[in-house]
Amino acid sequence: MNKDERPWLREKVSESLLQNARELRKNATEAESVLWSFLRSGKLNGLKFRRQQPIEGFVLDFYCDRVKLGVEVDGNIHSLKEIADYDEQRTSFLNEFGIEIIRFSNDEVLKHTEDVLTKIKNVSEKRMSGVPSPRPSDTPLPGERGRGEGLKYFQFKSLLQQNGWLSPAYVGVDENGSIQYLSSNPPEESTAIEFVNGFALPGFQNAHSHAFQYAMAGLAENHSSGMDDDFWTWREEMYKCALSVEPDQVEAIAAMLYAEMVRHGYTQVAEFHYLHHDKNGKPYNNLAEMGERLVAAAKTAGIKITLVPVFYQKGGFNQDPQPRQKRFISKTVDEYFHLLDDSAHAINNQSHAQLGFSVHSLRAVDLKDIVTTYNNGPKNIPFHLHVAEQKKEIEDCLVHSKKRPMQWLLENLPVNERFHLVHSTHLDDDELKKLAASKANVVLCPSTEGNLGDGIFRMKEYVKLGGHWCIGTDSHIGLNPLEEFRMIDYRQRLVTNKRNTVNGDAAQYFVNESVKQGRIAMGRSSSDHFEIGKPLDALVINASTHLLADTSEKNRLASIVYTSDSSRNLGTMVNGKWVVKNQHHQAGAEIKTAFSKAMKALKNR
Ligand SMILES: [Zn+2]
Repeated sequence: MNKDERPWLREKVSESLLQNARELRKNATEAESVLWSFLRSGKLNGLKFRRQQPIEGFVLDFYCDRVKLGVEVDGNIHSLKEIADYDEQRTSFLNEFGIEIIRFSNDEVLKHTEDVLTKIKNVSEKRMSGVPSPRPSDTPLPGERGRGEGLKYFQFKSLLQQNGWLSPAYVGVDENGSIQYLSSNPPEESTAIEFVNGFALPGFQNAHSHAFQYAMAGLAENHSSGMDDDFWTWREEMYKCALSVEPDQVEAIAAMLYAEMVRHGYTQVAEFHYLHHDKNGKPYNNLAEMGERLVAAAKTAGIKITLVPVFYQKGGFNQDPQPRQKRFISKTVDEYFHLLDDSAHAINNQSHAQLGFSVHSLRAVDLKDIVTTYNNGPKNIPFHLHVAEQKKEIEDCLVHSKKRPMQWLLENLPVNERFHLVHSTHLDDDELKKLAASKANVVLCPSTEGNLGDGIFRMKEYVKLGGHWCIGTDSHIGLNPLEEFRMIDYRQRLVTNKRNTVNGDAAQYFVNESVKQGRIAMGRSSSDHFEIGKPLDALVINASTHLLADTSEKNRLASIVYTSDSSRNLGTMVNGKWVVKNQHHQAGAEIKTAFSKAMKALKNR
């Protein structure tokens, strides 16, 4: 197979992308939101642009009727020939109606915004001279639904940015929940503002989840005398759970879990998904049946999901898969890519969902297939894998490859910021140094790692080396992001007998680093916690609780992080809407009913 060709992606184009070009494009809205923030309300030369404007049977990203100019923002997908042809046909059709289309890539918009705006301005001016009688700019066009007009405003007591608090904070969001106004001053227009007596933190990212394992949370805590209970014995319990769940039950369990994540302040989850096949190990007709259920569960729960379908091939180094792993298995790289292709369909048209890709671990996929998967896989989505969680895994890897897992990874793959390395618990000095220098992201799962007795990641040294990390909840024995930060800090304090795990304001460091890196692990990026053009996703902490009400801004975040439990959460917003408020989830009753039904059928609790 030619390495430059990715058959699964090309097949996908012929099967569905072509006819759904519009919908797919809508999945990449970050650049559009940025551009819209500069075009809206006549900001560019007083020209009235509209978004998502239907014209002659097509929908244009942005359109100015006065100069009959359409602006399209395209993701990478438009470099594919089939899609490019489709766009060309559409452009020439619209030209016949006197409409000019100019097109920019996401990259151009995000990285060269000024140049893009200059080009739009120049083309508009040129076209203006040929427009003798402009249509009044406020005349509604057919299909116009008042997009961008009338933001929904909130006033928070304070809102946390990377450098500190904005107080008070006025935030205006458009109908998509994107922030279009962010200031400590109220908006000039007279409008209704919802006052929120709370401190808005950025919504947190849960970068590692196996949703089905929530069904067994707390059930493996009864330890037989006379035998050791560790990760490997726990894993037997986990297999029993994995073998017993049906798709409906997985969806119900995941919806309950995700709703709980939202209640605790997570607004995004990366689902590290390997429960692919039916109970007999037979693939479902839709290879991504289970993935679709997880995406549906996330929608019900109001959380954003990055579905990370996992390549799981073997029962250990040089070992065939075991019968109890039959629901996980893709035998070859091609089989995995077919699964990934169907998973791409599963997120199609789901604005809350994105895709990542993954191999489970070095022990679960043939080493040369790991290299092939990474090299032939998608180039623009995050790559996740478990590494160096268990000492036994290190020993087995040494026997098999003469290398330690992290050492092998660093020597055989171009480890960089696209890599999200889950656990990375057992590292030697050289690995730690090289890992930090690689800019890769370590996904720490402190409550699960503690629960399973994995070991302690060398956080203090790693931070000193400038290494990057974020958090995940893995088996979901704990779901409070603030508790995960405390566990990271406290296990270092216990090991070093010192309190300074990091320099300066530790709470600020934990929140900033985990949010920035967590967003990258989801396949998104940002330069601050809250930004114009980005969604308003926030955990709001009740400002009237006794300790916080009397705490200065300087000490507020540390008081929230180090003294908090979730009872102080006022609510969680996703895309500018309350999903949980006063501990009540908007779809809580429905989610609990389905979960309870699944638990009764499983009979494991
Ligand atoms: Zn895991």
